[in-house]
Parts: sequence; C-alpha cells; structure tokens
Amino acid sequence: MNIDGIIDAVDYLENQDKRDYDAYEALPYKFDTCTFNVEDAKRQMIFSCLDCKVGICYSCSISCEHYKHELIEVGYKKEFDCECGSLKNDKDFNCTLFDKKGIDYELENTKGRNFNGEFCFCDGNPLSDGDDKMVQCTLGHSCNEDWFHLGCLNLGKYRLEEDDFDEFICSDCYNTYKSMFDEIFNKYDKMAKLLLIKITTLQPEYELKPALLLKENYSKLFQYILNKEKQSQHSSLETFLNKIVYHDLVNPYKLYEPPKEEFTSIIKVDSTNYIADEDTYSKNETDIMRIAVEEKKLDVEKFNVFKEGLKTFLTGFAKNKDVVKKEDIDYFFKNLKSESVETAVDNNDLSTFSNPESELEELESD
Ligand SMILES: [Zn+2]
Ligand SMILES: [Zn+2]
Ligand SMILES: [Zn+2]
Ligand SMILES: [Zn+2]
Ligand SMILES: [Zn+2]
Repeated sequence: MNIDGIIDAVDYLENQDKRDYDAYEALPYKFDTCTFNVEDAKRQMIFSCLDCKVGICYSCSISCEHYKHELIEVGYKKEFDCECGSLKNDKDFNCTLFDKKGIDYELENTKGRNFNGEFCFCDGNPLSDGDDKMVQCTLGHSCNEDWFHLGCLNLGKYRLEEDDFDEFICSDCYNTYKSMFDEIFNKYDKMAKLLLIKITTLQPEYELKPALLLKENYSKLFQYILNKEKQSQHSSLETFLNKIVYHDLVNPYKLYEPPKEEFTSIIKVDSTNYIADEDTYSKNETDIMRIAVEEKKLDVEKFNVFKEGLKTFLTGFAKNKDVVKKEDIDYFFKNLKSESVETAVDNNDLSTFSNPESELEELESD
C-alpha cells in the first residue's frame, strides 16, 4: 500500500457519496407504490405512454413495462386513476405494483391533448420568443389542465410577471363559467380586484380571449364568497363554488408527492474535513472494505481486523462529534502499512488519534 492508495480510499468515499447523491437527486421519490389505491393522490404527476395510449403514475413510469416505451410527463392531473395494467385500458401489460386485471370497471379518466404531446394554444410554438416556461390551467374543466407558455399569456401588455400571480385559468375554462366569474366581479368587486386579474391572452386565429390570473390566497376569496352565498337562497354562485369548482378553487386538492427516499451519506463533508457518520457507516462498510481488499491488496485474513479497526476509529469521532481530518485518515492507513493491523489494535495505536472514547473494549471482547 502506498500514498496513492491512501488518497484512493478517501477519494473513493467522496466519489461514491457523490454518485449516490446524483442518483438520489434524479429520483428522489420512492417508486414502489402504484397510486391506484392511494387516497391522497387526488392531484398527482401523470405520465402518458405514447405507445400504449395510457396515463400512468410516477411509480409505474419507472417500475412497470411502460418505462421502456415513449413516455411524456403531462404534469399534475386531478382525479386520475393510474391505468397501468388496467383491464380495459391496458390489456397487453400487467402492473407490477398493483394488479388491476381482476378489477372490472372502466376508469373515468379524461385524457386531453397533453396526452398526445400537445401543449398550449400555440401548439408548441411559443408566440413570444425564447420564453418556454409554462403554467398550468388550475381549473382545467375545459382544457384538461393544459399547459401554457408564459410568453403566450400576453403578460407584458399588463406589465405583469410570473411572480405576480399564483395560478392561471385559461380562456376556455374562463369562458365555460363566464357568467359565474362575471357575477363575482360585479358582486364582490373590491375583493375580486385584489385577488383576480383579468387578462386577454394571445391566441392565433382567435380574437383576444379573456383569461384569469389568481393571486396568492385566492382560495380565501372564493371561500369567503361561498360563505356569503350560503346565506341566500337558490344561489347559483353557491352551487358553482360548493359543487363544481370546490376542489379546484375553494379548497384545491394538494399536489401529491410520493414518499421521499431518505438520502444517507457515507460521510459528511464540510469543505476540508471528513466526519464519519456513525449510523450510515456500517451500511457502507462492505463497499469500503471491498475497495480496501481490491486496491490495497489487503491480506484477506486481516480483513476483519482492519474492518473493525477502521469502524472503531470512525465511530469514535462520530460519537464525540469530532472532525476527522484527512490527515487522520491518511495516518490510519499509514499505520496499517507500517505494522500489522493486529499489532496496531493490540497496542492501542488507534488511540493516538484525537479520539478519547474509541470503542476498543468492544472490539477486544469480540
Ligand atoms: Zn400506477
Ligand atoms: Zn406503454
Ligand atoms: Zn404499474
Ligand atoms: Zn404557447
Ligand atoms: Zn383551462
């Protein structure tokens, strides 16, 4: 074992940790549960399989057969049941996470143009140059929660920017309930002006069409109006808010996130120092030891002693929340080089590190 070998071991920990983290960042959510039966998934991220014409949940987009197909993300959709492996929608495949073949009912999903890969009224050619950022219609009853380019919303005309509003209602959805929204603007004009902004969007081959921007706390406004309207009889506005758009505007469904995987680091690094993480260390020790054997050509017979020694060494630091410096790790490996590990352990040499509470007793009693 040489100095290069020592550096290898430290680099290895760092590289492994980074690879683990990159992998974690790419897929932070657990993908072991199909949302078909998940009560909370009222508004969830959906993927469209262009090959099979089915809409599937996040987990199924990774874990089931469709992952091999052409998938596009269609964003959050409300009240959408995962179709992966369902009896009528997806005859050819089975869902590996939740068997739906035995369930004989038609899923009542609406699959709008997003599911064919079409977005916005510009059909994917933003009207203003360079602005590809998109917002989703939060009402979605007429557009199936379509996505629109910010650049296609004509915000510049109103000197508005993305941060000036929370949600967007597209012109089709606005138009569907125009009389209701107009009533709100007339009857509750002062409040409505604070929380709703009427704009006209840019749409080719159409007249300019009115649409709505909703400011932060918009749902409180709708809730307030609903409470007021409940006091009068036969209010169509009450029916609208209480029945038709209740889960869209008054008390919107929360965006469902699958449970997150917890990231466990091999080491905690603060710029120059290495702190061994006691809890995660044991999980990764096999890997470290494999490298030690392969790259350091450690005698396999000494393997376990080496393993215990390093573990004890790092655990002590972690317990005392001491910082393990690179020199300490280097020194540990140097020690291994200069004398047999058994001797190092027997002679209590590990205690030469700034490690008052090493667990040598535990090691000796094994
Ligand atoms: Zn699913
Ligand atoms: Zn497919
Ligand atoms: Zn599936
Ligand atoms: Zn567009
Ligand atoms: Zn819409």
